[in-house]
Amino acid sequence: MEFVKLIIPLIEVGILTVLLNYLLGFFWNTRAMDLIVGFLVILALFALANWLHLPVLQKILLGIVEVLVLAVLIIFQPELRIALSRLSFKGKKFQETSEFDRLLEHLTNSVYRLAERHIGAIIVLENQDSLEEFANRAVMINGDFSSELLESIFVTSTPLHDGAVILRGSTLVAASVILPLADDTSQLAKTMGTRHRAALGIAESTDALSIVVSEESGKVSIAREGMMTRGVKPDRFKGIARSIFSPPSPKRHFSLREWLTR
Ligand code: ATP
Ligand code: MG
Repeated sequence: MEFVKLIIPLIEVGILTVLLNYLLGFFWNTRAMDLIVGFLVILALFALANWLHLPVLQKILLGIVEVLVLAVLIIFQPELRIALSRLSFKGKKFQETSEFDRLLEHLTNSVYRLAERHIGAIIVLENQDSLEEFANRAVMINGDFSSELLESIFVTSTPLHDGAVILRGSTLVAASVILPLADDTSQLAKTMGTRHRAALGIAESTDALSIVVSEESGKVSIAREGMMTRGVKPDRFKGIARSIFSPPSPKRHFSLREWLTR
């Protein structure tokens, strides 16, 4: 009995450590990290107020924490969904962090260059579900991804610019891809037409991440798991892509997924 009493707190500390490691690993180097740091500062102030018996300050801080929790849930809904879905232990497309980081940097630069020039585009990043059936019906490219290749597909007025591009890891698989349209368009703005509907459609029927550049507004939206997030800025774009596709970093402590699958 004594032994059980002794071991239970240890199990609790172990589970909390793994969970914290997973959460911090997930949000590390993303915008959410600033919020987490802010949260910890408020928590420290709260402990101080408790220690010094300052009830008014305690009440105010508690109010701030309540609002913050709600704000985090709303603002980071896509990231939280991804964090939870990552617990489904699916594999990754990239073996090395440096390879992935290089691709993400080039991809981000290209996407936001297209956006700046109001050049419409859809780029679909294949995940575990194969997009072969869509690629097969389009123009096969199967070339190494490069900013030049991607941008020249959408910038020029050749037939290739019409439709989407599929990326599998660092391979640009196909261009001029016709995607299935989303049935439910209630989450799309009135100004969004078939391009956005197609990007949402593929994210509804597969686990792919699709990126849309609007010709009309010059804004970048991303669709994932049937959810469209509009007006995504480069840092957030990188954070979301990293959370889905980034291979496990050798510098980091192991994540919950790795730990469970050891
Ligand atoms: P934008 O904000 O850029 O104007 P939009 O959502 O309003 O986009 P449209 O203006 O209708 O959409 O964009 C039409 C373009 O969307 C087409 O020229 C084509 O390139 C692309 N598109 C339309 N349907 C599909 C589809 N099923 N699959 C892939 N691309 C599509
Ligand atoms: Mg339009």
